Amino acid sequence: MEIANRIKELPPYLFVTISKKIAEKRAKGEEIISFGIGDPDLPTPQRIIDKICQESSVTANHRYPESEGLPELRQAIAQWYQKRFGVMLDPETEVLPLVGSKEGIGHIAWCMLNPGDIALVPDPAYPVYAISTLLADAEPYYLKLTADNNYLPDLPSIPDNVRAKAKMLWLNYPNNPTGAIADIKYFDSVVQFADANDIAVCHDAPYTEIAFEGYRPPSFLQASGAKNIGIEFHSLSKSYNMSGWRIGMAVGNATMIDALKRFKSNIDSGIPQAIQMAAIEALTGSQEDIARNTAVYQRRRDLIVETLSDMGLEVESPKASLYIWARVPTGYTSASFATELLDQVGVVVTPGNGYGSHGEGYVRLSLTVPDASLLKGLSKLAAWKGMVGRSKTR
Ligand SMILES: *Cc1c(COP(=O)(O)O)cnc(C)c1O
Repeated sequence: MEIANRIKELPPYLFVTISKKIAEKRAKGEEIISFGIGDPDLPTPQRIIDKICQESSVTANHRYPESEGLPELRQAIAQWYQKRFGVMLDPETEVLPLVGSKEGIGHIAWCMLNPGDIALVPDPAYPVYAISTLLADAEPYYLKLTADNNYLPDLPSIPDNVRAKAKMLWLNYPNNPTGAIADIKYFDSVVQFADANDIAVCHDAPYTEIAFEGYRPPSFLQASGAKNIGIEFHSLSKSYNMSGWRIGMAVGNATMIDALKRFKSNIDSGIPQAIQMAAIEALTGSQEDIARNTAVYQRRRDLIVETLSDMGLEVESPKASLYIWARVPTGYTSASFATELLDQVGVVVTPGNGYGSHGEGYVRLSLTVPDASLLKGLSKLAAWKGMVGRSKTR
């Protein structure tokens, strides 16, 4: 038997060697603390769990759900968007619940790209944007994100021949892995660029609710005219600690939403209804859990940034997201520094080049480490002796 080229040609999973090493060390009984995974460690709020339990015993919820989601859920999503961002959405045509936002992020390429088309993809970025482009036999054109451009793609620098073939543009703010943010003014410039070049925008926004010190990240749909040219992916995973329940949404441009709906209806049969009911509770109930969670993340952020700075690493304190993006010390690559920390002090960080070539020279640390492990991990990091004899970078 022979598997298809699209699978054979998938780039290898970049963290295999490091994952193998972690497993070996753990098998030997070594204590390893991981800052690698961006998955909320705090529990789903009780009010949401209670709803799932209650709805699980309702017979109607044991049957196939509608692929397009319950009308009540689409309504709740539209209301939440209006309340949170002042963005008006038609729950019939501009809202589509997803089996986790990754499901829609992966499938939208099939709705927008013909073979040979270009998708504009930030580098570094969440790997699904580029991989889904490749799976649709289209080509990613990488837009470099650097500290110099505040990790915002420089759209005017995209060559004309690329613009001509580009059908999609991916963006993600607050950003994974860099922790960068974008303001509405930037989103306005994105809409202008997309309009002028007839390029559909996909803004991936799972971190708008994870922000610190009173900062409120905007929705791409707040930019004027955004709905004419793009959609936004949102998720309950990070806001409500619901990553395991698999529920998210796409909202915005009705043509794109309809295409995704038609594609999806042939692939999945919707989100389990008890979980849709729980999502309604999450979006319409008290939003106090979010403030409680972000207070925890903010405290962790400050502790991690302080430790990394003391180690001599160049690092900025992010205003939002679940990630610290730190420059590796002189003389290291992303991989060699991650390997060194694992070998020397038993701490896992994610090498930045796993998110694209422009992530080289950085490592990512996640804020989703339970407090006790976090403190242990930080004291291990503080014991790192690698910088002895080197001059500190700040
Ligand atoms: C976590 C994450 C997602 C996936 O969210 P789900 O709704 O759980 O599928 C999407 N995009 C980025 C950038 C993420 O970090």
